[in-house]
Amino acid sequence: IAPADSLVHALRDAAAKTPDRTFLAYFDARLSYREADELSDSVAAHLAGRGLERGERVAVLLQNSPHFVLAVLGALKAGATVVPVNPMYKSAEVGHVLHDGEVAALICSDRAWEAYLRETAADSPVRIVLTGCELDFQTRDDARVLSFERLPQAPDADDLVTVARQGGKAPEGRAPRPGDIALISYTSGTSGTPKGATNTHGNIMYNAERQRTGLALPDPPVYYALAPLFHITGMVAQFGACLNSAGTLVLTYRFEPGVVLEAFTEHRPHYTVGPSTAFMALAAHPGVTREHFASFAGIASGGAPLPPALVERFRERFGPYIRNGYGLTECTAPCAAVPPRLEAPVDPGSGTLSVGLPGADTLVRIVDERGEEVPLGEQGEIVVRGPQVVPGYWRRPEATAETFPDGELRTGDIGFMDPQGWLYVVDRKKDMINASGFKVWPREVEDVLYTHPAVREAAVVGVPDGYRGETVRAYISLRPGAQADPDELAMYCKERLAAYKYPRQVEILPDLPKTASGKILRRELRSHARGNNDDSR
Ligand code: ATP
Repeated sequence: IAPADSLVHALRDAAAKTPDRTFLAYFDARLSYREADELSDSVAAHLAGRGLERGERVAVLLQNSPHFVLAVLGALKAGATVVPVNPMYKSAEVGHVLHDGEVAALICSDRAWEAYLRETAADSPVRIVLTGCELDFQTRDDARVLSFERLPQAPDADDLVTVARQGGKAPEGRAPRPGDIALISYTSGTSGTPKGATNTHGNIMYNAERQRTGLALPDPPVYYALAPLFHITGMVAQFGACLNSAGTLVLTYRFEPGVVLEAFTEHRPHYTVGPSTAFMALAAHPGVTREHFASFAGIASGGAPLPPALVERFRERFGPYIRNGYGLTECTAPCAAVPPRLEAPVDPGSGTLSVGLPGADTLVRIVDERGEEVPLGEQGEIVVRGPQVVPGYWRRPEATAETFPDGELRTGDIGFMDPQGWLYVVDRKKDMINASGFKVWPREVEDVLYTHPAVREAAVVGVPDGYRGETVRAYISLRPGAQADPDELAMYCKERLAAYKYPRQVEILPDLPKTASGKILRRELRSHARGNNDDSR
């Protein structure tokens, strides 16, 4: 089956075939496919009318709301490249993206515009601004969900909703082509300064189509957008895949466990994808029951390690089996996943849960330092070649040459493959801990910690140590009402791991720092640990 050329084509198809079907559900508001098509046409007409040219960049800085979807579809219909920006970014980070992406138009909430974006955008290439209050499509009392009061319309920006309702046709001759850059996705920055991966329409539609044909969801499917839409997983595996199946996308602004569970009860979704930390938070919510998950035909975790203990615990308590999936921004979300009806094996040696099987047309290889393929079962760097791998980084020829030699993506992740072709991610190359010359992979230690009944979240980092070079330090947050002390947790690991692997230092925190997409920030914990170590000297 040939995928549609772009999300714009998929929207047009759905609006023609099922105009009255609900595309977006946001609290009490609903938008049909026809409405979404018309409103995004109007946004496109406005952008073009304000002088936006084909191929120019439009930054979208919004939470999971109909506004986000209309802004993205409107910009794509105008032939633009969308730059999704994390709404949690601080001014300097947004400034970096606006300059680096040479962004011509900015679409954001009026609150963020007033609070800091007006100033941030002042000396940037931005010349068109649309702001909108993300509550306009919501009629239910919002007090529980948001502390987001309606602000007066910004005097120096056009209002997104007014523009969307103005009517107007998308400009002629701007239909996206598969090779055009649809998105510049700045990587989430768990390991350094964000670089823009250039996801083409072809990259996106390949993954969206694979999901439609591979997932065996009811037709039409109801997706709940657990991952934030600005992140590649939310954008492609939720929004893109749902639109490509003419399904219903349920949005609830941002991750708030109580609100998510309410949406499950109300909309009975069939499918969702999120980071494992989101499932941990849902499982820890006081009101959660098995019934909340009764409508799901599938649940997937992607973008971050999935501890096998979580999968088992989750299945026992709630029913669904969480399917692992592996991907990077640079390969437009998933490049390997656990297909429906199969369960991921756990490697007997390390206890690591497989991330799945590489997709069709996707070649995953494991290579050594010299780029030579290693024998099956041996560890090395994971490299990926396939239709979802981006052509490179935005205006970074050196980084592109380094990360994509000969068009193949060097992931920076260490992994291995078993004889049946199941892929395992050991850890990020750069997170390896070198303790007295022994390699310790934080993931393995974290997986053990997750089997302890009191542990909600675990992150392991290396900290400088005068004797061993580096030593293993664990950060833990506890499940609600659970008790454990650091020594007990260290001993628990010592009984289950080789002596050089167990954490000699354990610290319990109320919560672990995470990115807006829900990944635990080992980098921040490392600097926390370095600060601590310095203090103790
Ligand atoms: P930065 O590149 O700036 O550090 P990031 O790597 O977090 O940001 P993403 O593209 O969102 O940016 O994340 C991709 C990474 O997430 C992968 O390289 C891998 O380390 C990790 N990852 C993704 N899926 C899985 C999974 N199923 N199991 C383990 N790790 C995963």
